[in-house]
Amino acid sequence: MIKRDFVEASKNQYDLIIIGGGIYGACLLLTASQAGKKALLLEKDDFGAATSFNNLRTVHGGLRYLQSLDLKRIFESVSERRWFFRNFPDLVKPLPCLMPLYGRGVYRPSIFRFALLLNDLFSSNRNDGVVSDKKLPNGKIVSKIEVMEIYPQVDGKNLKGGAVWYDGAMPDSQKVLIEIVKWGCDLDGSALNYTEATDLLIKEGKVTGVRAVDKTNNKVYEFNATKVINSAGPWCRMLAAKFDKDYPALFKDSFAWNVLFNRPALSSYALAITPKNHGARTYFIHQWKGLLFAGTVHSPWKDASRIPIPDSSSVSNFIGELNSSIKNLNLEQSDVLQIFPGLLPAKEEGSEKLAVREVIIDHGENGGPKGFFSISGVKFTTARLVAEKTIKKIFREEIKSSSRDGRKPSNSKELGIFDNQWVPKEPNGWENTLKNIIQNESVVHLDDLMIRRTTLGDDPARALENSQKICALFNWNDARRSSEISRLESFYQSRKINETNSL
Ligand SMILES: Cc1cc2nc3c(=O)[nH]c(=O)nc-3n(C[C@H](O)[C@H](O)[C@H](O)COP(=O)(O)OP(=O)(O)OC[C@H]3O[C@@H](n4cnc5c(N)ncnc54)[C@H](O)[C@@H]3O)c2cc1C
Repeated sequence: MIKRDFVEASKNQYDLIIIGGGIYGACLLLTASQAGKKALLLEKDDFGAATSFNNLRTVHGGLRYLQSLDLKRIFESVSERRWFFRNFPDLVKPLPCLMPLYGRGVYRPSIFRFALLLNDLFSSNRNDGVVSDKKLPNGKIVSKIEVMEIYPQVDGKNLKGGAVWYDGAMPDSQKVLIEIVKWGCDLDGSALNYTEATDLLIKEGKVTGVRAVDKTNNKVYEFNATKVINSAGPWCRMLAAKFDKDYPALFKDSFAWNVLFNRPALSSYALAITPKNHGARTYFIHQWKGLLFAGTVHSPWKDASRIPIPDSSSVSNFIGELNSSIKNLNLEQSDVLQIFPGLLPAKEEGSEKLAVREVIIDHGENGGPKGFFSISGVKFTTARLVAEKTIKKIFREEIKSSSRDGRKPSNSKELGIFDNQWVPKEPNGWENTLKNIIQNESVVHLDDLMIRRTTLGDDPARALENSQKICALFNWNDARRSSEISRLESFYQSRKINETNSL
């Protein structure tokens, strides 16, 4: 249960305070709690509402890192993908992927046959401890005819065959994140959403806690701990500068976005498509709840104070690349249902190339406040591992697995996973399910419930249609109901193409 209890939290002496409730902060809370440390997570908005909400919902193994022969990254990714499969069999499923091969450069069946073989070899333990219906088969090369069966709109000209491999899909990644926060809280951790850390409390050069404001009523609290981790994602560098000094290595901004189109998916496989124009990047065309979900587009960016939304010319370029690579696709801007944007750490300032590894900074070791740490990471998939490395570094001791590790899988109804056609009419106990979630998962606003605790917000039109009935589950007056529904509308509005200012 996630309890929004400020009085208790401000009385406690914590071992650790974590600032930022994205996937990195959530995993830090869990890992610290598993290690027997008393931890408090502070999130200025809702848990998982920023970058972590906007991921492409793939749990990556390491196939793509074969290109750079980054074996460490391959092994880490495989093992973290397995962690998700073992612990969230109810929320993660095998994702078959297909890359059509046209024989250009390395995109030849002979080369990919070898790459898939290596991939299977390096991930030979990928299914250890994974339930039987979630195990990932070996990759294979398929014929041109098979590619056309899997993906009928493939451009058949010069097609030589296809590479098939398996990764993980987590269509409801927002629920995975909330389950991790809940799991950490069940192990004696605490987590407060809508609570912004404003000051680092320091005495004689050592951290003593964090001052934070409850954004629902502007009350200020002080929380006590001798260790504080800044895990504020795109904001971590600003926070490091505010609480100590700027560390450029922490986060050099780059912009990344995915698009959900109001069009049926092209295949049950995720398609890896490389447009024919020179130097084009490979995109993933996914199926998400039956719809076409495509990305990720990357570009340089410099201004972490705001998360941009792509303008219509960027979206139109992307659509153009997809239309020219996929037969009879004819996507238009009016097909855009939602944009999923975020800032990610780049290798270099002004570059779109992503950083390869996490950064963990011990401010105390560099002359800053003792007990203050900052981290940034690159992938949702590897957040738990980065959390484990960080906790080991901070507490300088081995994190032992123990009986505290276990998570009890919930059934999909308890989890708030409803199918796309669901309406709040059926006499199937939906009210109790939602009331339980409201009570146990720190739901403050309507969008917390509809977008990040359940799947009721997946389809914007249906979500708004059902919003009045869902509001009735809260103890809200008419004014509050209408302001909550406006908030939900603004959420969807903010995910449309930016028609006004360009990037
Ligand atoms: C378009 C896109 C597609 C992606 N696809 C994938 C994918 O398919 N698979 C994958 O593994 N990864 C993917 N990623 C990467 C992954 O989403 C990120 O690496 C991850 O979500 C980063 O998490 P985070 O916790 O560091 O940041 P965030 O999720 O941004 O969390 C940081 C949190 O800190 C909070 N915060 C900031 N300041 C304060 C403060 N003062 N007090 C309290 N809280 C504060 C913010 O509100 C925010 O919630 C993708 C990313 C993007 C943008």
